[in-house]
Amino acid sequence: MALKNFEKLALAYALKNALSHDGKCQQSSVLSALFNEGLKKNEVGKHAKTISEIVRDVNSLNIEEQEKEFENLKSLISEREGREGLSELPNVPKTGVIMRFAPSASGPLHVGHAMTASLSFLYVRKYGGKFYIRIEDTNPENIYPPAYKMIENEAGWLFSNEPEVLIQSYRMEIYYDYIKKLLKKNAVYVCTCSSEFFEKYAEQMKNCPCRNLKSDDNLERWNKMLSKNGFKPGEAVLRFKSPKGMKEKNPAFRDFPLARINLTPHILQKDKYRVWPLMNLAVAVDDVELGITHAIRGKDHIDNARKQEMIHKSLEKKSPWTGFLGRFNFKDMDLSTTKMRIAIEDGKYSGWDDSRLPTIAALKKKGYNPQAFWKFAEQIGLSEKDKTMDKKDFFLLLDNFNKI
Ligand code: GLU
Repeated sequence: MALKNFEKLALAYALKNALSHDGKCQQSSVLSALFNEGLKKNEVGKHAKTISEIVRDVNSLNIEEQEKEFENLKSLISEREGREGLSELPNVPKTGVIMRFAPSASGPLHVGHAMTASLSFLYVRKYGGKFYIRIEDTNPENIYPPAYKMIENEAGWLFSNEPEVLIQSYRMEIYYDYIKKLLKKNAVYVCTCSSEFFEKYAEQMKNCPCRNLKSDDNLERWNKMLSKNGFKPGEAVLRFKSPKGMKEKNPAFRDFPLARINLTPHILQKDKYRVWPLMNLAVAVDDVELGITHAIRGKDHIDNARKQEMIHKSLEKKSPWTGFLGRFNFKDMDLSTTKMRIAIEDGKYSGWDDSRLPTIAALKKKGYNPQAFWKFAEQIGLSEKDKTMDKKDFFLLLDNFNKI
């Protein structure tokens, strides 16, 4: 951000904050608004002095003077940023919204999860409706067994035990039913090409021969996927027929996979199932089955949301309205639960609630209130902007929300 623009923006936010707090502006609120505008971590040091001077100047004005100055600058603050509270969601039914937060069972919840989930929770509170925590565990290879209980406990704590918790692997028959529907509609096919061959077809934008199979042949192949004496892992995969097939511009959309054989024993279902739905199928089905009206998810799910819309279209179902959130980039804080787990196993941390970790378990133990996360999430709102900050600044803001 150029210094001149930056100063003006900081002044606008300082005045806005002062005017909504009896003429007294808080530096951390200005900082959080500026992060929201894309202020980068490496710029904080450079601007810290300027921000505190602006805050001091604003606080030395009386309210009339603040109002006058704000009039000149308020156009700098976008409508969304200028609002207090949550922005409105589109197409809200009279009965309220049905939303979900869908963490995978690969690890416990951390601050990143808390920010996304809090926003959905707040919208359900605002409009009424229902909030689900859906634990996504249809990849038997990517499950951390203690995560089930931890997610349930931590989400319960964060959201006053209001959400209903669901576990996808108990819903397998539902996914199989939908696969049958899709097979009948000839909207999917069982592909037996090796991945090497399929990739070649995809590269050349030519449909693979399996795409032309008749619905009955696909049904027979599907049964062979399900049968113990049928296909082996890797020999067959269920694929979606994308509208433009291999001619889809985005390679990710070219007849993407929906289900595969995986014989890794599942921690909850043991060896009950040999064919597992992939994320896009399980999510698309559950969002329909649960009647999800609005979904808020990370920006990294943009392509997935598009794939799920394609699946919904084939099923003649409506897709939820989807809002995407920008990423939180922490330069000096890793949110990978896999890395945290390894470090815990190596004895670097005492456990998931070690006070140095950014997990919800640790923050709860440190004395944070769930409301601190809600307020932080509300302040950021439905913003697609990525935010870069370091741990210190993030916790400065969270501490501030913890006090209010
Ligand atoms: N379980 C997926 C994830 O955690 C899905 C998220 C979603 O669809 O919102 O990345």
